[in-house]
Amino acid sequence: MNVLVAEDDNLNLRILQTFLEKWGWNVVVARDGTEAWTLLQQEGAPSMAILDWMMPGMDGVQVCREVRRLPEQRYTYLILLTAKFQKQDILEGFDAGADDYLTKPFDANELRARLRAGCRILELQEQLRQAYAAMELRATHDASTTLWNRAAILEAAHAELSRAHREGTSVNFILADLDDFKQVNDVYGHLAGDAVLREAAQRMQGCMRPYDSLGRYGGEEFLIVVPGPVPASGLRVAERVRDSIAQAPVETPEGRICITVSLGVAGSSGASPVEVDQLLRLADTALYRAKHEGRNRVAVGDLAE
Ligand SMILES: [Mg+2]
Repeated sequence: MNVLVAEDDNLNLRILQTFLEKWGWNVVVARDGTEAWTLLQQEGAPSMAILDWMMPGMDGVQVCREVRRLPEQRYTYLILLTAKFQKQDILEGFDAGADDYLTKPFDANELRARLRAGCRILELQEQLRQAYAAMELRATHDASTTLWNRAAILEAAHAELSRAHREGTSVNFILADLDDFKQVNDVYGHLAGDAVLREAAQRMQGCMRPYDSLGRYGGEEFLIVVPGPVPASGLRVAERVRDSIAQAPVETPEGRICITVSLGVAGSSGASPVEVDQLLRLADTALYRAKHEGRNRVAVGDLAE
């Protein structure tokens, strides 16, 4: 593991470095506070730092302050090394964001124990970060298809539409509903139904451009948000999705199942902006028409409906 040591005194630095390397640390050296600050901002910077308080340029406390202002993607554990021992000074160090301090001349065993405590904090911090990331994933994604869930795709729809309103551009909503999906579940069972949903989601994902958004809107219903000319861009994506679903049967534990999808497209353009709810209703009406007209097809909704 890497540790950054910022110390302007050569002898102190050498002593620290010797101990740290003996304990298995890989030491990154900074000769003053400014260099330490530069190193700590870099990608892959050590997450453990021992900072001398008194240094030319930036002092250790200033470095602490700056590090704590960084956006917190990862935590840096900061130990101040100080000849100061008055209570007031130590409080200043903690106020600046130091996690711990050690007074000079330092005791090797004490330093080692404090580094161990720091490692425990860093480990906990990392576990917390991972747990948070997993929680966020669960909160925004549909577990069975791994697509965005309803809340997340609706949020994307709102964001994309308000951006279109702001910039006077166009955006299409597509509602896609697998045809006769209930029958798949009834005839082949839920395991096959789940396999069909997953495969359909994957094929749809393959039709998206980098700036399109796709999410599971309901049971077998999906919402796609497509920025671009109305309805041309929406139609193009919808037609691609329709084709990718119909082109080949889905392999499931119960055998190969042929599926199709019906899609309703509705758009908001700079000339006639439409709100999210209204756009969803329009897309839904178009979807209903696509179903009514025989399924496995795309219909476009318009405001006159
Ligand atoms: Mg010094």
